[in-house]
Amino acid sequence: MRQYIPRLYTFVGAITFLNVLCLVFLLPKFTMKTRPRESILNTPSTAIEERAPANARRKRAALSKPCCPQLSNYLVGTIKVDLEWAEKNYWTESNFEPSKWQAYLGEYETIPGEDVHLLNSENILHTPRYCRTSLRVAFIIPFRAREPHLKKLVGHLTPILRRQLETYSIFVVEQHSNRTFNKGRLMNTGFEFANMIGDQLGGKFDCFVFHDVDLLPERDDLLYRCTEGSFVDHLAPSIDKFDYKPLCCGMTVGGVLAFKSDQFRKVNGFPNSYWGWGGEDDDMNIRIRKQALKIARPDPKIGRFTMIKHRRDQSNPRNIKALQELKKSWVISENDGLVNLDTEIKEFHLYPLFTKIFVDVKVPPDI
Ligand code: UDP
Ligand code: MN
Repeated sequence: MRQYIPRLYTFVGAITFLNVLCLVFLLPKFTMKTRPRESILNTPSTAIEERAPANARRKRAALSKPCCPQLSNYLVGTIKVDLEWAEKNYWTESNFEPSKWQAYLGEYETIPGEDVHLLNSENILHTPRYCRTSLRVAFIIPFRAREPHLKKLVGHLTPILRRQLETYSIFVVEQHSNRTFNKGRLMNTGFEFANMIGDQLGGKFDCFVFHDVDLLPERDDLLYRCTEGSFVDHLAPSIDKFDYKPLCCGMTVGGVLAFKSDQFRKVNGFPNSYWGWGGEDDDMNIRIRKQALKIARPDPKIGRFTMIKHRRDQSNPRNIKALQELKKSWVISENDGLVNLDTEIKEFHLYPLFTKIFVDVKVPPDI
């Protein structure tokens, strides 16, 4: 037995030595892999800055600003709606000469059926220069062949949103074909798109404002924000075209309507099945009531809009099936909307003041 004891010591010694080796060489590698944050903490800050994606850098820069006041003190109340000035201002704010005007393509990568990954997200989110807000607002504008209206709206709205100290993006959702217009599908696609890229802009949007391209607010104290709680905000109760009178016994929700993200999903968005002019906003009214949401409206003296004069557009004939569709809405609205949206985003363009996405709304059934 005795002759084995020295060998036993050697064996135990060797095992201990190997264990120590393991601890010294292997453990740091293991911990580096599973806890990469520590390794980042140990690198010089400049190296981190290089590695941080652009939106993380922007987020940090934004956090260094003080909070904006709840109510901006730049507001003046009534503002003149001057269409000529608005269009001029559009070019001024865009910093582009009309003659040199050129849209540039937003770069993005897509894997069919998966998320859009922005490679260049500059100019999409507009933030107050000297302070930060906690709420982010996405404007969704259904659109086709109304370029002059779009310029006037954006030229008029941009200084108002700056004065309101909003953090916002404007998404213009353009129907890609000359076929019958489908406003519901465009608005649903705009919502899904804004939702999808929100995180890549540093945080999800809190409030989605669905805004006709031809409605210009007459006051800057009409805040483009969502009311807390179970309210949906109908922001355009008085329009000059209707002598500033409420349409149809306070039932309409057309023109400018704001939802919080979870509410818009709850009502299953707008219907996809309305082709041509009319009906989709009445359907939305039914959806809101069905989900027991309430509608908030600003004081009609404040929620005032000028509608740019226009004729009925081509390929947007009155929807003669609207009444028929409306009768079914209470029963089928859960199956027609965001849940069965089958549109396709063809491309998107980044402009200095807004982002335009081109959408294939697919073919209308039999018209
Ligand atoms: N729209 C558009 N191009 C069209 C038809 C409609 O851009 O060919 C959009 C635009 O945003 C417009 C909204 O749909 O403001 C509502 O259409 P329209 O102005 O004809 O309806 P109104 O409210 O004037 O009856
Ligand atoms: Mn109109």
